[in-house]
Amino acid sequence: MSAGYHLAAMGVKTIIFDRWAPAGGPTGRSSAICRAFYTNRFIAQVAHESLEMFGAFDEISGGRDAGFRRTGDLYVLGPEEVAHVQTTAAMLTEIGTAVELLSPSDLGRRHPEMNLDGIAIAALEIDAGYADPVATTQGLFHRAVELGLGPRLYTSRLLIAAGPWTKPLVEQVHVELPLTVERHFVATLGWNQVPALPYVLGDIPGGYYMKPEGSELFLVGPMTSEPQADPDAFSVSVTADEVSRMASAITARIPSLALADARGGWASLYDVSPDWQPVIGEVAPGIFVDAGTSGHGFKLAPALGRHVAALVLGKEVEGIRQFEPGRFETDRLLAAGFGSARIIG
Ligand SMILES: Cc1cc2nc3c(=O)[nH]c(=O)nc-3n(C[C@H](O)[C@H](O)[C@H](O)COP(=O)(O)OP(=O)(O)OC[C@H]3O[C@@H](n4cnc5c(N)ncnc54)[C@H](O)[C@@H]3O)c2cc1C
Repeated sequence: MSAGYHLAAMGVKTIIFDRWAPAGGPTGRSSAICRAFYTNRFIAQVAHESLEMFGAFDEISGGRDAGFRRTGDLYVLGPEEVAHVQTTAAMLTEIGTAVELLSPSDLGRRHPEMNLDGIAIAALEIDAGYADPVATTQGLFHRAVELGLGPRLYTSRLLIAAGPWTKPLVEQVHVELPLTVERHFVATLGWNQVPALPYVLGDIPGGYYMKPEGSELFLVGPMTSEPQADPDAFSVSVTADEVSRMASAITARIPSLALADARGGWASLYDVSPDWQPVIGEVAPGIFVDAGTSGHGFKLAPALGRHVAALVLGKEVEGIRQFEPGRFETDRLLAAGFGSARIIG
């Protein structure tokens, strides 16, 4: 959707085909955390650009609202990640993303609600937050229509960015992509008598993330790999065991949240690549893919769409070549994230 928006904004005749409505797929069920705390420099830069776009969404979308809230995102990590976090924070600072590193004692002073077991370092990304995934996607779509998106019968270039359905679509041009599909869920909890915690939390030793959802609720979801699923036959409901797994994980870190009450949740799909980094490139003459965003593609989309649009137009995009689909055939897998939290990217 974002690439379509950017192509329309560049004055390129563009049409978008979607099986459902904009954000009708996994995007509409995204936790929509928007952060730039990435270990891959290109992705970190794109995420930074996206955060700027979220901040100026009304200007770029013709007066629409993406529901973006800046809350800060706090990442807590174990002793094996200290050096990696320090080099990542230095790289992010060069890009312009503000990250504050905290020792366990700093963290304990600022967050007395937290049990510090297993934490050797924390990083606070000040400008991160979350958005409304449906409002964001529909905002870009409606703006693209205003900019000239429209029906055409003929195309010389095709971009396939169909998330979990990309692999079977690309097979129609006899190209195999090593993408898999995982079912990922979020548990919804009510703050109940606990004062709401206003920040997003990525607990790497705990294997989960948490984010506020409006003023009464918060979401908790796993940060590690989950079982594979058939994208056309999977359960969109959460089970009591899944909710209890997330409630136990968050309560181990923030004991006062034992008072929070379970309010259900939902599940959708991640299209996952072997290295948990996106798969972007030309797979056949004039046919491009942008998929495999591995559970971290929502916040990248506003700015990544611009780079992908340029690629589709045949322009050289510095830094994007590393994501070409052919990397898996020659074992050029990219690094991502911290330990099993590869979703951090
Ligand atoms: C529970 C959950 C939580 C998440 N949390 C975050 C988060 O906090 N932050 C973040 O950045 N990312 C998050 N993600 C990941 C993020 O939502 C995805 O990476 C992103 O939404 C993928 O967007 P997409 O445009 O590639 O396509 P998708 O949203 O996967 O949609 C694919 C689209 O392809 C269309 N399609 C399928 N087949 C066809 C066809 N034959 N013809 C035409 N159209 C077709 C579908 O209609 C659909 O609209 C989360 C995902 C889930 C499931």
